[in-house]
Amino acid sequence: MIIFVKNIVANINVYNDAEKILNKFLLNKITSYSQYRNFDFGLSDPYKAVSGLSPYISRGIIKEQYILKKVKENKNTSDKFIQEVLWRSYWKGWLEMHNKVWLDYKSNVDYQIMKIYKSDLYEIYNNALKGQTDLEPFDKWIIQLKKTGYLHNHSRMWFASIWIYYFGLPWELGANFFYENLLDADAASNTLSWKWVAGIQTLGKKYIATKENIMKYSLTKYKDFILPKLKDINLDYKTYEVNKINYNKKAVINKSKKNALFVLENNLNFNFVKNNLNKELIVILLRTDCLSIKKNIVSRKFQDHCNLSFLDLCKKYKIVYKTFDISKSFVELVNYLLNEHIYYTYSEYIPIGYERDLMMKLILKLNGSKINYTDFLDSFYQDVWNYCDKGFFQFKKKFNRTYT
Ligand SMILES: Cc1cc2nc3c(=O)[nH]c(=O)nc-3n(C[C@H](O)[C@H](O)[C@H](O)COP(=O)(O)OP(=O)(O)OC[C@H]3O[C@@H](n4cnc5c(N)ncnc54)[C@H](O)[C@@H]3O)c2cc1C
Repeated sequence: MIIFVKNIVANINVYNDAEKILNKFLLNKITSYSQYRNFDFGLSDPYKAVSGLSPYISRGIIKEQYILKKVKENKNTSDKFIQEVLWRSYWKGWLEMHNKVWLDYKSNVDYQIMKIYKSDLYEIYNNALKGQTDLEPFDKWIIQLKKTGYLHNHSRMWFASIWIYYFGLPWELGANFFYENLLDADAASNTLSWKWVAGIQTLGKKYIATKENIMKYSLTKYKDFILPKLKDINLDYKTYEVNKINYNKKAVINKSKKNALFVLENNLNFNFVKNNLNKELIVILLRTDCLSIKKNIVSRKFQDHCNLSFLDLCKKYKIVYKTFDISKSFVELVNYLLNEHIYYTYSEYIPIGYERDLMMKLILKLNGSKINYTDFLDSFYQDVWNYCDKGFFQFKKKFNRTYT
């Protein structure tokens, strides 16, 4: 289905928002980031000590490389902040190198969803999703998550730990719930962080939340809660083989032909479009609101804002654009390309996640219709993802050698 966006809402520009948030962070918060980043100031002031950039990073509105450059140029800097941004790049590259982890995760989500309905855990699962566990901090996190699409990193860790070790629920269902509700939902950061808390990402490391730690870092907001009895959960650690990342190093756009540049909702990187502009280029925004993922209303609204801002920029630069929803069918898109005699299509490299899964199916359809498809991986990721086969600190060392 073609979606014609008629009312471009004035004053929504997520690109400017991201830039302003970054500037504010660099001016006011970066010097105290390391000291206060672990404190969760709650619903009333969620970004008091952190940047709040993740929704924009996760939608490709602002890129890690750009943030790192701005931090470097800033009067004050923070190794801790640089390190956190690098965690994101590392998780992404790590998942690219271990694609079987994603496949296992997805099939386990399906399996656990089927299983939980008939299990003794159903009641606690259902209460947890509704925020009716009688465990005050947990119920408050659920309210905040559903209302705003955001939870502080420390609260995400406590939440996941309570879910797994105190409620005894399957980690995959918690990760799936986060993915449906977080504005910054990201296949790599989310899946691998949950695996890490569950003790199956880094051998020998489980993350067990304690009352004292929650009290201290949430500034004793919660006074009378008692954590349920800790369960003896030891999940099987599975080793995954490293696979090669399959990207096309030498891709170029054939500018003499009429061509289409696909842009996916989770990577609305306008610089990529700007750098590849030519008069034969049509930009096609692909909506990938996968039916299996019931994204909550807050994150869908945020996505709509991001899409509108992207299309607004296309208008500003007089770029011909179209939007197709490919979550249900590819027919209209393929027919459109054929009717317009567009046989060359491109996109930025699409990292592992639901969007990539859908794109793989689209690529088959395109090939079947003799339409070429080529992708490009940004040189920053070409470099840094190569360092993701081992642990984070080795990755960081190699990164520092290349980029500082
Ligand atoms: C169980 C669990 C699930 C998570 N799911 C996601 C997710 O789906 N998407 C997501 O972007 N992050 C996820 N994170 C990581 C982290 O919680 C968020 O990136 C962070 O809270 C975002 O807030 P911020 O932008 O204010 O972070 P800041 O502290 O300001 O950090 C700046 C940026 O660095 C990156 N970053 C910071 N901490 C981490 C981290 N621990 N891992 C990876 N990147 C990090 C983010 O891109 C963030 O925007 C998860 C963490 C846990 C424990």
